[in-house]
Amino acid sequence: MSKTILVTGGGGFIGSHLCERLINDGNDVICLDNFFTGSKNNIRHLLSHPGFELVRHDICHPYFAEVDAVYNLACPASPVHYQYNPVHTTKTCVMGSINMLGLAKRRRATILQASTSEVYGDPNIHPQDESYWGNVNPIGKRSCYDEGKRCAETLFFDYYRENNVRIKVVRIFNTYGPRMLPNDGRVVSNFIIQALKGEDITIYGSGDQTRSFCYVSDLIDGLVRMMNTPDDVTGPVNLGNPEEYTMNQLAHLIIELTGSKSKLITCPLPQDDPVRRKPDITQARKLLSWEPSVKVKDGLMKTVEYFKTLEKL
Ligand code: NAD
Ligand code: UDP
Repeated sequence: MSKTILVTGGGGFIGSHLCERLINDGNDVICLDNFFTGSKNNIRHLLSHPGFELVRHDICHPYFAEVDAVYNLACPASPVHYQYNPVHTTKTCVMGSINMLGLAKRRRATILQASTSEVYGDPNIHPQDESYWGNVNPIGKRSCYDEGKRCAETLFFDYYRENNVRIKVVRIFNTYGPRMLPNDGRVVSNFIIQALKGEDITIYGSGDQTRSFCYVSDLIDGLVRMMNTPDDVTGPVNLGNPEEYTMNQLAHLIIELTGSKSKLITCPLPQDDPVRRKPDITQARKLLSWEPSVKVKDGLMKTVEYFKTLEKL
């Protein structure tokens, strides 16, 4: 049945793919964004669709609309952007969640929170499953985001316990694909752009730190499956690709895929950079019958093709 669905952060990388999917499924979509890191270009192709509506708004301020479901994705996601105005990042996570939970409560709408693997901080257990409470520095440069997202999860569960709001919390691990911002300093976009330009590939620290990369279409499928679970499924549920790469391996893979002559250089490691990260997706497999299907090589090739189409590289 067709629903009216609010997607906050709908003008961003993940949000724009989600809007597209929800429209294709026959829903009415309200895409809300303050365009801090998002862009109209990401959703321009949806603007003329009769089921699509665009609202410029900051979720730190209340917003009311008659909706059946909310995907709360609004929040800068890359370290460069979330550290640009750290207080606003925390406000977006905390006040933004309160505003969107208030909307869901009033409308009796189901609300999904885009949480993050960053709630595990620099993890002491490996791989990370949802029962792990994390190892987060509360006063570091990443804290505005990590602690903001942790507090958002707290709010979601208190609204669930106190107000019977139907919540769904997913912890998203590193996701990549077309419409990533070329200038947000994330490892996949940095390495691809450097490789395409033949510039040095910037390895932060030893390059032995690991991440696991999920292609965006797989993630979107996981988000939609989670939203459609029965009411007693609240999460948190990890969504990510359990294939683990060191940053050195990723750099070599991207050099191979692009046929680049770029060389690796070492740069300083940012503060509190997690050493290892890999999701345990047992819960996602069990509750959502979900696991990533796009191979990292295939996803990277699609992402390379996307970056080649950008004019200003
Ligand atoms: P993005 O920066 O491309 O998208 C975020 C969107 O939210 C942007 O369009 C931005 O303009 C908007 N936004 C930011 N603050 C806002 C505010 N106060 N009010 C309204 N809009 C606001 O990032 P993304 O990678 O698409 O991430 C989307 C969500 O997924 C974020 O909540 C992020 O924390 C979460 N997430 C992403 C990843 C990842 O690897 N990309 C990993 C874990 C979690
Ligand atoms: N990284 C790197 N070179 C870059 C950008 C990032 O070596 O040019 C490293 C970074 O230090 C981290 C990993 O890649 O260990 C992933 O960084 P990203 O910012 O993409 O995501 P996050 O740290 O939030 O997982």
